[in-house]
Amino acid sequence: MTEDIYDITIIGAGPSGLFAGFYAGMRKNKVQIIDSLEIPGGQLTALYPEKTIHDVPGYFAVKAETLVADLVKQTAQFGVPIRLSEKVVDITPTENQGVYQVTTTKSSYLTKAVIIATGNGSFAPKPLKTDEPSDFDFSKLGYSVTDKQQFAGKNVAVAGGGDSAIDLALMLSEVAASVSLIHRRDAFRAHESSVDKLYVSDVHVVTPVTIRSISDCQEGLRIALSDDRELEVDHLIVQHGFLSNNKDIRAWSVNLEMKRQHFMVDSHYQTSCDNIYAIGDTANYDGKLGLIVEGFKEGPHAVNQIMTKIHSGKLSQAHSTSLF
Ligand SMILES: Cc1cc2nc3c(=O)[nH]c(=O)nc-3n(C[C@H](O)[C@H](O)[C@H](O)COP(=O)(O)OP(=O)(O)OC[C@H]3O[C@@H](n4cnc5c(N)ncnc54)[C@H](O)[C@@H]3O)c2cc1C
Repeated sequence: MTEDIYDITIIGAGPSGLFAGFYAGMRKNKVQIIDSLEIPGGQLTALYPEKTIHDVPGYFAVKAETLVADLVKQTAQFGVPIRLSEKVVDITPTENQGVYQVTTTKSSYLTKAVIIATGNGSFAPKPLKTDEPSDFDFSKLGYSVTDKQQFAGKNVAVAGGGDSAIDLALMLSEVAASVSLIHRRDAFRAHESSVDKLYVSDVHVVTPVTIRSISDCQEGLRIALSDDRELEVDHLIVQHGFLSNNKDIRAWSVNLEMKRQHFMVDSHYQTSCDNIYAIGDTANYDGKLGLIVEGFKEGPHAVNQIMTKIHSGKLSQAHSTSLF
């Protein structure tokens, strides 16, 4: 165990955890960020690094991986350590009043406060289910795209009807020979502006159909659809959402009130345990939205609350620079 006592330990290096880490560092807290993945960025890096994001303030449009790189740079200026490939497996109260022990797969740390920014926990894409059982090797299918150039000149199908499926189809249509978007309904569950873009793009919209079966054909795949049409493509990328897993977190020693996968928090983002806060996608309260910008707001708020408690008399709010 490291004997230093951190002011704040942030669990999760997604956008919420990174920005909270920056803010806590700027306010001169002794802070660290821990993430189980090999790279920072959470969902942005793991699930959609090439996607363009339009709803982060200050950016007209920004690629997810660029936003993460900027957040990491912003956090690094205050020397905040980001410990990667290190999963938090427990938080325990210690005999030292007001100090928690955070245990990871590599070490354990003492900390006065914890900010949980674990998103939906560890996540994995929902596997494709075809209407008919088959011997097809489903591991050949793709579930994410880290480099769109891999699909240059290829015939690609995307399965799904949400934002991620439409965004991916539009992105691939910039480089692929053809892109077909397969969805079981005529209507899409996506931003209106994305759907508008879809219908004026080169993407071939294939609805309302399900995928009956998939088989190998020459060097590609043959997709049999429920309306008896068939598509021959080089790649099929499935975008049917994600299965998340916060089960491990339920086993932590501290008794945190959860609703489904998320931590219940009060109006200052504190969980049911003193000095343990939850921000970003993992926080649950009335009116909560699953947007990056929500975590950006919640992090500084939680840090300010923590500071009023662990550094007695500290001003609860400050600007990054002053006029004079
Ligand atoms: C396809 C898709 C497109 C999206 N597009 C947009 C968009 O355009 N605009 C927008 O605002 N939002 C968008 N979102 C939502 C956005 O990605 C989330 O709101 C955002 O990622 C939440 O950030 P977070 O830091 O709270 O959690 P996450 O990004 O989920 O990061 C959580 C981090 O915690 C880590 N972690 C989990 N458990 C542990 C543990 N026990 N120990 C250590 N580390 C742990 C994970 O490894 C992960 O790195 C999109 C989401 C998806 C899936």
